[in-house]
Amino acid sequence: MLLRHTSDTIIEREALTVNPAKTCQPVGAMYAALGIHGCLPHSHGSQGCCSYHRSALTRHYKEPVMAATSSFTEGTSVFGGQANLLQAVETIFTVYNPDIIAVHTTCLSETIGDDVNQILQKARDDNYVPEGKFLIHCNTPSYVGSHVTGYANMVTAMVKYFSGKSVTKKNQVNIIAGWCEPSDMREIKNITTIMGIKTILFPDTSDVLDAPLTGHHEFYPKGGVTVPELVSTGDSRYTIGLGSFCSEDAAILLENKCKVPFSVINLPIGLEATDKFVMELSRAAKVHVPDEITEQRGRLVDMIADMHQYFYGKRVALFGDPDTVIALTEFLLSLDMKPVYIVSGTPGNKFGTAMSALLSEKVPEAKYKNGERADMFLLHQWIKQEPVDLIIGNSYGKYIARDENIPLIRVGFPILDRVGHSHFPITGYIGGMNLVVKMLNAILDKEDRECREEKVELTM
Ligand code: SF4
Repeated sequence: MLLRHTSDTIIEREALTVNPAKTCQPVGAMYAALGIHGCLPHSHGSQGCCSYHRSALTRHYKEPVMAATSSFTEGTSVFGGQANLLQAVETIFTVYNPDIIAVHTTCLSETIGDDVNQILQKARDDNYVPEGKFLIHCNTPSYVGSHVTGYANMVTAMVKYFSGKSVTKKNQVNIIAGWCEPSDMREIKNITTIMGIKTILFPDTSDVLDAPLTGHHEFYPKGGVTVPELVSTGDSRYTIGLGSFCSEDAAILLENKCKVPFSVINLPIGLEATDKFVMELSRAAKVHVPDEITEQRGRLVDMIADMHQYFYGKRVALFGDPDTVIALTEFLLSLDMKPVYIVSGTPGNKFGTAMSALLSEKVPEAKYKNGERADMFLLHQWIKQEPVDLIIGNSYGKYIARDENIPLIRVGFPILDRVGHSHFPITGYIGGMNLVVKMLNAILDKEDRECREEKVELTM
């Protein structure tokens, strides 16, 4: 019993988080920055922070994640990090030659109050930035929000620094990707390609963090949204934001800056959310939904209909990033499953509003919470009070799953102890089928292991 000290008695806590269901802002900013082609993320803080952010991403994506750091020392912490950042900008462009350096701050540089905007302007004024190269930044104090906040801040910085409005509108649609896997971003692009719609997806980590092994090391893989594409987002017809926590701020800024109207919908995980995404695309680009998409949908519906008996009434505990768990909750409800416990470490009122709208009628007994005190400890306590049939979340759920003998399927960030998440999507109708298969196999594997011998069946 690894978590043997978790009791089922819940005591209200005001200043203690145990096993948080989140990580720190710069991890998200770094991931988003990797979705720009030719970008080197830069962590303005100590080496330890940068090492942690890089290793968190490397362990999840199983790819070497490159990033630079201002390498704060004791002296920098007292006198400020301007000299280090200026030196870093010069060295990085000289030695590593990226198209863009995307700077994010850390707890330390935020606490001492470094004005990164001013430092980067000085770097430009003092000619540290070669012609045709760019410096962008966002603030990511990690004592506020979570990695999701950092991701949203870097995505917003892409709009702030690059989006521009020319005289001619372009027949294209922007898609602001919420935090999802490279495989999910690839699947989103597959759907738009099948529908014949020109889109700009940003950020886009496909072909960056799932790049093939070719025998040649590419410091900057071929994937990622390009600077000209980011600039032209201001000329697009429309913007679709996927997941309000990650994309809404950027969509609002793009509308204010370039008058591009937008809507924000859930990440397209599951049947209903993918339906909404496809219909939103169809409306924004004024195209019909092609048969190929309708057939993909039909295959998912068929699979759900065939397997419904195994899902009906199953109690599920979910944890992870808000945009992901909101979409997953909607999907579970459409399968007639019961998402009874849901936590997300990311703060924000939108979470409670979305959960209440989804759950108040269908699963009124559901417990959900987000923010700092919504931790894995609380989730475990709820499960101890009344168990569930399935847990959905990242690798940190394995301790609860093992102690309580509940199947866990790994969805979200980080997944440190399994592979596949970067390559097999959970978005779109195809992703929906992947999710159904994962859930079903986890439930049936347990049943096969534990049922009485006379109940063992060869067929479903
Ligand atoms: S929480 Fe703050 S100090 Fe810790 S790794 Fe993140 S940025 Fe660095």
